[in-house]
Amino acid sequence: MTDFSYMVDGDGVATICWDLPGKSMNVMSMAGFGELDGLVDRALADAGVKGVIITSGKKDFAGGMDLNAIAKMKEDGGAQGIFDGVMGMHAILRKIERSGADPKTMKGGKPIVAALPGTALGIGLEIPLACHRIIAADNPKAKIGLPEIMVGIFPGAGGTTRLTRKMGAMMAAPYLLEGKLSDPKSAKAGGLIDEVVAPEDLLARAKEWVLTATETDIVKPWDTKGYKMPGGTPYQPAGFMTFVGASAMVHAKTFGVYPAAKALLSAVYEGALVPFDVALKIEARWFTSVLMNPSSSAMIRSLFINKEALEKGANRPKVNDQSVKRVGVIGAGMMGAGIAYVAANAGIEVVLIDAAQDAADRGKAHSESLLDKGISRRKVTQEKKAEVLGQITATTDYTALEGCDLIVEAVFEDMKVKADVTAKVEAAVGKDCIFASNTSTLPITDLAKASARPDQFIGIHFFSPVDKMNLVEIIRGKATGDVAVAKALDFVRQIRKTPIVVHDARFFYANRCIIPYINEGIRMVAEGVEPVLIENAAKLVGMPLGPLQLVDETSIDLGVKIARATKAAMGAAYPDDAVDTVLFAMADQGRLGKKSNAGFYAYDAAGKREGLWDGLDAAYPVADTQPNLTSVQHRLLMAQVLEAVRALEDGVLTDIREGDVGAILGWGFAPWSGGPFSWLDMLGAAKAVEICDGLTAAHGARFTTPALLRDMAAKGESFYGRFGAQNKVA
Ligand code: NAD
Repeated sequence: MTDFSYMVDGDGVATICWDLPGKSMNVMSMAGFGELDGLVDRALADAGVKGVIITSGKKDFAGGMDLNAIAKMKEDGGAQGIFDGVMGMHAILRKIERSGADPKTMKGGKPIVAALPGTALGIGLEIPLACHRIIAADNPKAKIGLPEIMVGIFPGAGGTTRLTRKMGAMMAAPYLLEGKLSDPKSAKAGGLIDEVVAPEDLLARAKEWVLTATETDIVKPWDTKGYKMPGGTPYQPAGFMTFVGASAMVHAKTFGVYPAAKALLSAVYEGALVPFDVALKIEARWFTSVLMNPSSSAMIRSLFINKEALEKGANRPKVNDQSVKRVGVIGAGMMGAGIAYVAANAGIEVVLIDAAQDAADRGKAHSESLLDKGISRRKVTQEKKAEVLGQITATTDYTALEGCDLIVEAVFEDMKVKADVTAKVEAAVGKDCIFASNTSTLPITDLAKASARPDQFIGIHFFSPVDKMNLVEIIRGKATGDVAVAKALDFVRQIRKTPIVVHDARFFYANRCIIPYINEGIRMVAEGVEPVLIENAAKLVGMPLGPLQLVDETSIDLGVKIARATKAAMGAAYPDDAVDTVLFAMADQGRLGKKSNAGFYAYDAAGKREGLWDGLDAAYPVADTQPNLTSVQHRLLMAQVLEAVRALEDGVLTDIREGDVGAILGWGFAPWSGGPFSWLDMLGAAKAVEICDGLTAAHGARFTTPALLRDMAAKGESFYGRFGAQNKVA
């Protein structure tokens, strides 16, 4: 079986067609690279071949490099193995770029064009960038770009060097540093590709170009004498400004915690000062350095390999396909309206119910406004809008639920209201229908008591806003059966989100970890720690929001509500009175967070966050002696991470992969670390125990080292080492 096919037509145009057997998307492996190399050699050596089209037999060109192959290069050969592997790729792509031309005169090469039918990501764009022209089909669904930075690496097969030389460092920045993806028309407008044609004309146009290309068409600007980099190099006045600015901008965004962003900038800066082939070597060195950094392996493992494994059903019970055809969403408020939208968008029929018709209609209107936004950004067509809205029936009538195979309840967070709704729904639906609650705080096992079929009762916990947040927490109650779990997982797959499956316990997984983070921040305010130190310490360790900004965003009254309910449930064991003193005082003054334009931060009349509220100082005077940055960071991280370890010890989490992926996607836990378990592994269990013991002595029992961690330290183990090849706990 081969990844590429080769064909030469009667006019002497060779087509190298990428078509991975048995897969819906092309991805590049080292073996695939070898094959491509052989076919390029063949075309260049054949005097009857005038030029080459590189295209795909699938609806897309390629999804990127198989990151498992990169992980393997590192495992097998360490730094040298990676460097040699990458230099091998450079040689192949450089061969395409020079296409057999005489190295001195640059004459005698053959035109090579990339014809992209659809999506072209990562190596799927780096190969075209080495070709002489990139032509894409006008396929608005296609995504073109270099998303490597999103998983902690950067384009390392020449993409960094070529794009910078093609468009200049400034213009290349959003594609390289932010992983910006574009549809073909925007990619053309941005200078990423050269031409967009009707899908049916793609190959004919590619062939026409090959047959009419001139000698200058097939020499890259950087291979000509007198080439000047667009926008200038670092020691030219215009370039100087760009590079100084870029460095500051990257630091402002990443706070220096992402090694890939720094390495990318270095590769661009140093590469700009030397000839092209030396720049490729520099790119390869920085790429190797990033891959050798534990942060990049942890990010690849969590954000690519394990995320994908979970999406493909790594923890799905072995029952037959449970794809959802018709879903009933009860409660058309903020969450219900969002759930209805993502389901309808995935082609599922939706019955959206609320207590009053106007509330149900408002819920449906949410979809309309999201679709209109998509239309204004050219992401959605009028037909798609009509199709999605046509899937949603907004009503108050429970009999409309007939035929639903899944219900997602998102009514008020109230046991009694939810129990009434459960009974009403069960009277209207068939006996096989699965019932899911979107509750954030009520135990699924308790809610299931209102159900006549508790084995068909489950939690499907979405995060807000539903259309943007990709994590979905699926909660197994005590009686929940395998079919319900499979149904929930199949639904999450249909709506293209990432699931984790957890067991029932207070706050499930994500909220259980994030609440102690917020609380630790507030506790420090009460202790007199400088609030700016608290917020910046969090950001400098990679948290997207400091704890005080986070509680402002989620709302302080919600915090008060959760604190009251938790205290009522825990009684004397409740540990957070010190936090409540601050939280309740803020709420009493009407400072409810962003929604009231007043919280730990001050806001202007338009709701724009201005800075920390200066009244905080008066209420909680800043202590003369401030803790050092690292100790504040340890408190903020350990508050979350220890909760994740306890969730594992308690059996709420059964798979550390879910713990890591869920933490990053659910609440933005320092993505550079790969998640709480990856962070602990990076730190080493012994060091983690030392930190916890120190924090316990200084700040109290909430930092007590979990027995599991202590045991791992004694045995010299790591989480990913201990929990085996499949990373399964049980
Ligand atoms: P919301 O107040 O915006 O919406 C609730 C909707 O339910 C309202 O439209 C209300 O009219 C409707 N409703 C109430 N009783 C009803 C009944 N008996 N029959 C039909 N409809 C009824 O609340 P929300 O923020 O969308 O939260 C809904 C659920 O989702 C809650 O359980 C909440 O804990 C959970 N949740 C919320 C968030 C969040 O960030 N807001 C996140 C995850 C989960």
